[in-house]
Amino acid sequence: MKKNSEVQIDRKLSRDDLIVVAGAGGFIAGSITRYFHELGYTRIRAVDRKPLPEWYQRVPGVESLSMDLSEKANAIRAVEGAAEVYNFAADMGGMGFIERFRVECLRSILVNTHLIDAAWRAGARRYFFSSSACAYNTDLQKDPNVRALRESDAYPAMSERGYGWEKLISEMFCQEYWAERGLETHIARFHNIYGPHGTWFGGREKAPAAMCRKVLEAQDSGDMRIEIWGDGTQTRSYCFIEDCVLGIDQIMHCDQLIATPINLGSSELISVDDLVSMVERIAGVKLERRYDPNAPKGVAGRNSDNTFIRGVLDWEPLTPLQTGMEKTYAWIAQQYADRKAGKRVVTD
Ligand code: NAD
Repeated sequence: MKKNSEVQIDRKLSRDDLIVVAGAGGFIAGSITRYFHELGYTRIRAVDRKPLPEWYQRVPGVESLSMDLSEKANAIRAVEGAAEVYNFAADMGGMGFIERFRVECLRSILVNTHLIDAAWRAGARRYFFSSSACAYNTDLQKDPNVRALRESDAYPAMSERGYGWEKLISEMFCQEYWAERGLETHIARFHNIYGPHGTWFGGREKAPAAMCRKVLEAQDSGDMRIEIWGDGTQTRSYCFIEDCVLGIDQIMHCDQLIATPINLGSSELISVDDLVSMVERIAGVKLERRYDPNAPKGVAGRNSDNTFIRGVLDWEPLTPLQTGMEKTYAWIAQQYADRKAGKRVVTD
C-alpha cells in the first residue's frame, strides 16, 4: 500500500484552471485551499458565508469571497468559469451541535442543491461533495464493538436525523446529476476529521479538539477534573486532516469513483475514555473524570471499513492517532495561549 509521500495524482487540470472551494472559511475547505495553492494552482476561488476576518485560514493570492451559497444567485456567481467545484459548505459541528440543531443541518441541502445545478450549468468538469459517516444506518451502530461500516451500509437508510439525511439526499443529487445530466461527481464520506485549524471551542467542536481544550482548561484553572459526555465507552475512528486532504484529491481525480460514495476515514478505533487518556499522556497530566450520561453522545460505535478505498486507490489514511493528536494538541495549546493573551484565534 502507498504511503502519503508515494501518492501520485493525474488531475487532468492545468495550473490556471479555476478551482472553486465552497465553505473555505472552515476547517477542511481551508486546508484544501491551502493545499492546492501550495501545489501551484494559480486560480482558486474560495467562498464562505462568514465575513473574511472570521475565516480559519486565509490563503494569500486566493480570491476569497464572502457569500451565502444557499442563495441561488450567489451559487451561480461562485462557480462562474469553474473547472472543478468542491462543496464543503454546511452548517455542522460535533454531536453537541448536530443533535440540537437539526433544522440548520437540514437546510444545508440548499447549498448543495444550488451549487451542483450551477456547476452543471457552468460546464464544470468535476464536482466534489463532502458527505459523512452520519449518512450510515444508525441501527448498525448500537454497539461500541462495531463492525466497521462499509459503503453499502447506507441502505436501507436510517441515517442520523437531520444532518445524516441531508448528506444522504445530497449524495443522491450527485449521483443523479451524473446519471441524467453527465456532470462528473465524486463523493467522500468523512469519518471524524481532526487536526490543526479545526474548531476547538464555541459548541461546534468535535471530541478530539474538545478533549485537548478541556485538558488545557484543567491545567490552566488548577481544577484537575474533566467532564466526559456519555459513559466514555463510545468508540470512533478519527482521521487526520493531512490524510483527509490527500484523500479528497485522489477521490476527485479517480475515474473509478464517479458518483460512487467512498469512506474517507481511519480504521483505528478508540473509545472516548482512551482518547482522553491519550490527551492526558500528551499533556503530561492525570485528571479526575466525571461522566455526563445526559450529554449528546451520538451512536455507540462507529468505524470506517477501508476495504473499498484500499482496493481502488491502493492507499488509506494511516497517520497514527497518537501522531495526529500530538500535532493537534500543540496547535490548540498555542491557540489557547493566544486567546488568553488577547490575540485573535479560530472560533465560530
Ligand atoms: P466547518 O464548519 O469548519 O466548515 C464549514 C464551512 O461552511 C463554515 O465555514 C461555514 O461558514 C460554511 N457554510 C455553511 N453554510 C454556508 C452557506 N450557506 N454558504 C457559504 N458557506 C457556508 O466544517 P468542516 O469540518 O470543515 O466540514 C466541511 C464539510 O465536511 C461539511 O460539509 C461537513 O458536513 C463535512 N464533514 C466533516 C466532518 C468532520 O469531521 N469535520 C465529518 C463528516 C463530514
